[in-house]
Amino acid sequence: MRLKPEAIGLGMTSQRVRDRLIERLRGNGISDERVLNAIRTVPRHLFVDEALATRAYEDTALPIGHGQTISQPWVVAKMTQTLLDGAQPKTVLEIGTGSGYQGAILAALGLEVYTVERIGELLRTARKRFRTLGMNVRSKHDDGRIGWPEHAPYDAIIVTAAAPVLVDALKDQLAPGGTLVAPVGGSSSQTLLRLRKDADGVIEETELAPVVFVPLLSGMID
Ligand code: SAH
Repeated sequence: MRLKPEAIGLGMTSQRVRDRLIERLRGNGISDERVLNAIRTVPRHLFVDEALATRAYEDTALPIGHGQTISQPWVVAKMTQTLLDGAQPKTVLEIGTGSGYQGAILAALGLEVYTVERIGELLRTARKRFRTLGMNVRSKHDDGRIGWPEHAPYDAIIVTAAAPVLVDALKDQLAPGGTLVAPVGGSSSQTLLRLRKDADGVIEETELAPVVFVPLLSGMID
């Protein structure tokens, strides 16, 4: 006998619940249908602990262990929409794999994803999720402040942890015509920044929104 999802407590992860999140994002300025579709498709409840699955389609950040969080869906949507705005990136570098959710959204959009995480255990869990979903995401256990020079330059770069200043290594690994989004600021107040590099390598910077991210830390841990 097959149990209905509602019967085993998966009602809170149903399509109806996900659609409600999409409408909320739309109401908050997310208009790129490709992004909304990716968020509708990628099962966010598989990127958090089972005990939190019922909250996975709320527009809120959730703990993923090691003092880290899976970003709020609106932030994921806003950053992703920014990378796609007026551009057709093929490759993207993400710093801060975390749960793997942001990387999975980018992979669902057809991008070739490179992601770097400093906490080994988070990375191993994220890799299992990519495998389960059949997603081909390239990942590395390293301090992402050095980027991932071997595959540079990238058409897009997304940094999902905050630092007071954006390191030059990441700016250098952005391709001409590319876009980088990153939260910049201290622990209490940060701004989401967009950097665009033109064909001559000149960088233009725009402030997008106030945000709250966990800090970008140095070194690696297992
Ligand atoms: N994009 C993630 C958000 C995770 S929170 C998601 O979708 O779930 C930010 C992540 O950045 C944490 O996992 C943290 O360990 C990682 N991080 C912090 N400093 C880092 C660094 N220097 N290099 C790589 N990852 C880093």
